[in-house]
Amino acid sequence: MMKLYSLKLTSVICPKCELTFATPVAKMPKLSRESRVETDLHRVLPDAAIRASLIAMCPECLYTWWLSAFQTHYFLPEMLPDAPPVDNAKKFGHAVLSGRNNGAHSLDRAIVALNGYWCAREDFQSADKWLELASRELYEALNDDSWDGNRGRYQFIMGEVLRLMGEFHDAVRFYSLVDRRSVLPRELINHQIEQAKNGDSTPTLLPPHIIEEIFLPKPTIVPTAVPSDVSVA
Ligand SMILES: [Zn+2]
Repeated sequence: MMKLYSLKLTSVICPKCELTFATPVAKMPKLSRESRVETDLHRVLPDAAIRASLIAMCPECLYTWWLSAFQTHYFLPEMLPDAPPVDNAKKFGHAVLSGRNNGAHSLDRAIVALNGYWCAREDFQSADKWLELASRELYEALNDDSWDGNRGRYQFIMGEVLRLMGEFHDAVRFYSLVDRRSVLPRELINHQIEQAKNGDSTPTLLPPHIIEEIFLPKPTIVPTAVPSDVSVA
């Protein structure tokens, strides 16, 4: 299973100072019913370095953001300066800061902070301050009416963050805001409300059928139109 995950170096250009540097990039297996996915809708990765490689940090100006926002370069990474040797989860902290300094939306910063929490867990570190940071950023994002998107999904994740923090009453309040447009299974929402009401703050794995329903939905089959002169009786 571990073998399916791998890291190699790639060359990227910093969008702020244009330095070309080397940073790790991960290869991951496709998500399946058998993947470990928790109720806060994240996939558990086998190594914090895999998640940390989703973020690149410039060694010159320290700009830090999703690797996907950096252009790749044809130079061999072995010839280039390395990204700074920063602790896996701390990279996400730097990214939240870069996001703030560069006007990134609170929802984007919240997603970075959530990844910091997941990364800290994958590195067996304390998660408390990450959950607090994620809850602050998510709260700001959900208070902002200017963005369109699956708000229900983030209300649900906010419920999860609060449950994991032991804030059960507020957790239930956020779960209860989640409506059908979130496309989340009712069974899952009810289960999490129940878990919060029971005062259970532990991270919880999703059962395979819920993973399938959320992440691997079957394509909707559109019935072929039947020509009116053909009898279908
Ligand atoms: Zn830079």
